[in-house]
Amino acid sequence: MRLSHPSRPSLLACVAGLVVLALLAGVRPLRADEPQLRVGFGVADITPDRPVPLGGYGERLGKVSTGVHDPVRARALLISSGDRKLAWVVVDLVGVSRKVRQDLYALVGEELGVRPEGFVVSATHDHSGPGGLARELHWQLAMGPYDPRLYRFVLDRCAEALRAAERDLAPARLGLGVGRLEGRSRNRRIHDGPIDPQLGVLRVDRPDGTPRGVLVNFAAHPTVLGGGNLLVSADWPGACCDALEARLGPGGHAIFTNADEGDQAPSTPGGATDFERMKAQGEAVAAEAWKVLQGTTTTDHALLQCALAELRIPRTLKSTVLLPRTTLVQTVQLQETVLAMVPGEMCVGLGLPLKEKLRAHGAAHAWIIGLSNDHLGYFTTPEMYKTGGYEADMSFCGPTMGRAFERTFERIFHFEEPWGM
Ligand SMILES: [Zn+2]
Repeated sequence: MRLSHPSRPSLLACVAGLVVLALLAGVRPLRADEPQLRVGFGVADITPDRPVPLGGYGERLGKVSTGVHDPVRARALLISSGDRKLAWVVVDLVGVSRKVRQDLYALVGEELGVRPEGFVVSATHDHSGPGGLARELHWQLAMGPYDPRLYRFVLDRCAEALRAAERDLAPARLGLGVGRLEGRSRNRRIHDGPIDPQLGVLRVDRPDGTPRGVLVNFAAHPTVLGGGNLLVSADWPGACCDALEARLGPGGHAIFTNADEGDQAPSTPGGATDFERMKAQGEAVAAEAWKVLQGTTTTDHALLQCALAELRIPRTLKSTVLLPRTTLVQTVQLQETVLAMVPGEMCVGLGLPLKEKLRAHGAAHAWIIGLSNDHLGYFTTPEMYKTGGYEADMSFCGPTMGRAFERTFERIFHFEEPWGM
């Protein structure tokens, strides 16, 4: 889902865009003299205290929630290394708009001392979280009528989670690991079609080496609960975080982020009801993440480089009518892993080659963080676009958007200094 207002970039912004592109970061190796690291976690409940429309399925026709099955949350991670800072909040919502990012940055960016390129807002793509957060009519079809009071509530709670993470900043150790999880996702367009089984784990330890937090990255839709469900729930990513936090013990924090999930459906281990299946899927992802975590080594210094670029959206009939002219592409290099923030739902046909390209540019591992900073719909390969179907119909940016992403991410990696906006 996408929620922001169309805007035209000024000539000045275009010129500035060219200048900043020449100053973007490249991948560089981790050195022993990187600055000491501090990490903080924060969480805030975004469960509405009244019936609200749920975001995710047009078939709900704006019907409001009838209760709460499990809470939905904003989960924040702050990483501080020398004069660099990453402030990242992940919400149990179907998507976040550029407007949400802008409004949230205006609310807390300065207070947190984080520059725009180090500020990330992502959604888990939960289909049973609060809707009603978009003004645009085409998104209201999938999210229910716009509710300004709910928008303000979600924004305030995201700010609260980030402030809590700032207060929680403490010396820490950090490491990133990657595993494979087969059988818990499937290609929803093609039987036995391609999947992305990569499971990324960002492990945060206390100075004594015991784990205190984890951020997980995996590609699958949080759609175990269908459009008939009217109870607020974080679907399986919520169950995944619960299972990891139980393993971490008191004070532990888990965050789930989605990846190139555009054509990836969940494939649950089973259960008698949708809620049981949702729990089983979350626990299966958590179990594998815990294995990867245990094999991940941590260090007390961190290499943190963030870059943000403006991407000009290809003109199609749909993008001209429905979307603004530009969107945001962002990378975060942590240690030798590169995280590529994608403003919507990327299918694996684009995601897998993009990860390969990022590795070719020097990244030890590449993750895609989908549903980040904006939501422009789906992104497909030209072949998928031609074949048609739901993801192609919802590819408002057309068949060349994958190439536009590739070019922008490559530009980011061709230059050496970080961009300070
Ligand atoms: Zn989706």
